[in-house]
Amino acid sequence: MQNLLDEAIRYALLYIHEGKTASYIPELGKIDPNQLGVAIVNLEGSQWHSGAYNIAFTMQSISKIAALMLAIMDRGEQYVFNKVGMEPTGDPFNSIIKLETMKTAKPLNPMINAGAIAVDSLILGVNTEDKLSRLISFIRKLCHNDKIWFNEEVYKSENATGYRNRALGNFMKDAGIIEGEVEEVLQLYFKQCAIEVNAIDLAMMGAVLAGDGKSPVTGELLIPKGVARLVKTFMVTCGMYDASGEFAVRVGLPSKSGVGGGIVATVPGKMGIGIFGPALDNKGNSAGGIKILEYISSKLDLSIF
Ligand code: GLN
Repeated sequence: MQNLLDEAIRYALLYIHEGKTASYIPELGKIDPNQLGVAIVNLEGSQWHSGAYNIAFTMQSISKIAALMLAIMDRGEQYVFNKVGMEPTGDPFNSIIKLETMKTAKPLNPMINAGAIAVDSLILGVNTEDKLSRLISFIRKLCHNDKIWFNEEVYKSENATGYRNRALGNFMKDAGIIEGEVEEVLQLYFKQCAIEVNAIDLAMMGAVLAGDGKSPVTGELLIPKGVARLVKTFMVTCGMYDASGEFAVRVGLPSKSGVGGGIVATVPGKMGIGIFGPALDNKGNSAGGIKILEYISSKLDLSIF
């Protein structure tokens, strides 16, 4: 396994010059694009890693899967899917077009920004701070890491420039999708996107999903099996945005990416894989990360299809 991960990094490094960091969030534009790391955790809790596996980076859209699970555990499936749909969009993650052109302004799925902002408005808590701290505790449990917190600089940078996400929030407030104050929901969204993890944390989270919600370390059930199944399905259909179809063909693993350069992938019944590679392709997915996953999936024959 160790050799395989080292080889995967060497192979994927050949492709990262094609990518760029997410400079639309100025603070993310400052990250060194040449980093690449991978970690694997299997269902017995054993770990392997290579490259920049212990570098902290912000979860960005990967946080959307945790927020979705928490909202479903808080409010129930029916209530959540009253506000957000279950269909892939074929549009970029921050697109606004479908909100107005579809019959209802309900965002198409919880993995695009509009859907994630709607989901955030459903998380329970007495105020934004309480909601964020419930979400962070949940992410700490999934990652088996009590130190996880959010990066203040990245949060401030997105808060200062997040005009498009504000537009999505305001549009959905007008359409009656968002519950509560839009600006408060956006503050939760920006802070959750800035939550910092490393590749091992993501591999742990992927392993929990691979084990149908069970901790690979303690055996404790951290998420109901049905919620784990549901989120893995969204990871297949929408986890890599409008590249989800090609990714399913080439890699074939439920995965979620973020513009911080992370990808969490899950191999049902086997293992979780965490990736860090901040050079992104034109869809906002880690360019090197996709190559690492292609390499590992084909060498170990991991595709679920
Ligand atoms: N915080 C980012 C945004 O809202 C998350 C997007 C992403 O990771 N694709 O634009």
